Amino acid sequence: MSENSCSTGSCGMNQNPEQIARQREVKNTLGGIKHKIVVLSGKGGVGKSTVAASIATKLAVEGHRVGILDVDIHGPSIPRIFGVKDQRPGMTDEEKMIPVPMTDNLKLMSVGFLLPHDKEALIWRGPLKIGLIEQFFSDVDWGELDYLVVDCPPGTGDEPLSILQMVPDARGIIVTTPQGMAVEDVQKSITFCKKMNMDLVGIVENMSTFKCPKCGEDIEIFPGKGGEEMAKDAGVPLLAKLPLNHNLLEASDNGKLMHAFKEMSAFDPIVKVLSELEEKKPVKKETVKEGAAAVAARKDDRIQTIAMPVDASGILDAHFGHASGFAFFIVDTEKKIIVEAKTLTPPAHEPGVIPSWIAAQGAHVLLTGGLGESARKILVDKGVDVVIGVAADNAAKVAKDYLNDNLNIAGNQCNH
Ligand code: ADP
Repeated sequence: MSENSCSTGSCGMNQNPEQIARQREVKNTLGGIKHKIVVLSGKGGVGKSTVAASIATKLAVEGHRVGILDVDIHGPSIPRIFGVKDQRPGMTDEEKMIPVPMTDNLKLMSVGFLLPHDKEALIWRGPLKIGLIEQFFSDVDWGELDYLVVDCPPGTGDEPLSILQMVPDARGIIVTTPQGMAVEDVQKSITFCKKMNMDLVGIVENMSTFKCPKCGEDIEIFPGKGGEEMAKDAGVPLLAKLPLNHNLLEASDNGKLMHAFKEMSAFDPIVKVLSELEEKKPVKKETVKEGAAAVAARKDDRIQTIAMPVDASGILDAHFGHASGFAFFIVDTEKKIIVEAKTLTPPAHEPGVIPSWIAAQGAHVLLTGGLGESARKILVDKGVDVVIGVAADNAAKVAKDYLNDNLNIAGNQCNH
């Protein structure tokens, strides 16, 4: 089976059927969570984990049901910050990991719980890391949550990319420090989020002032406007300027962050914005069903897979049974964008084989020029919608036309 990469280069990875199935599982697992907040940074050491942990703590103190997921595979520090480094997650009968409870309404899960040594992750190869991250999104039993705060690996590489792909309805918060040098990193992170069509809640400037432990006054450490200018240039809100707070540092480094919530008043504006999301935009709970009985439910899936027979130059091929390849577009039906694109070589043309193979790729809909009745029936029975008579055109354009209800229909081009 051959695969061609996404021509846009924006997705970075192709997906196999297992990954598609995993993505469905992720969706199911996260179905009980209203708001997913991914905390990102251009580089390590800017306080991303401290910010993620403090936001989660404050939201929980306000009474929201909160989970914190630490997938910073290079330096999972959330267990240290919460003083639970030696704990391990439990297991449900369905073999899902049970997050470690901190209070009745705050629980946490960290990749650090599964690593025997802190440095182990550094020698892992990329695909293993991505696999572990995917597992963290699909195999944790979160139950119902108001917020899941995700501590993302720093940078804009494959690992944050796979996280944003797995949680397409997440909102982002970018953490930075105020130095001029950080501008480029933040701009990269903003471009990254925009490219992934991710809603940005805003930027947090950390360690911008120094809180004097004696008099409590905030003293500016770096000259200039730092985060304010970065936020203004990017057209993204600056959520807060956080002081370098010695008490917070001590609490965080000694596993006592939960007890230091009084030190977190500078986080109030961030928590206020997030609480307003809770009031205004409850997210519809979705679950994934399997099999043909799920056709109706799958129509409501936000992330769907569109299949199309294509010729060697990526043009929709009218001859379903003899097409050299099938393009699969994973799309976000709400944002009306293509998230992933790949082309696979179908199995040999035997009666019924290709329709079953298309269904097994996780397709929600097949767009095709022509299609015989028996193939159509197999697809429909397996829960795949079928649109016949689509005019030949560039496959990615056809997928976009479909998303925008603008398909060019020329009539069924199959005469058998
Ligand atoms: P990152 O996740 O970006 O690598 P961390 O959150 O682990 O960074 O923070 C790095 C160090 O800086 C830690 O020792 C942490 O306690 C400290 N730190 C982060 N933010 C603050 C702050 N606002 N005041 C004081 N110390 C901070």
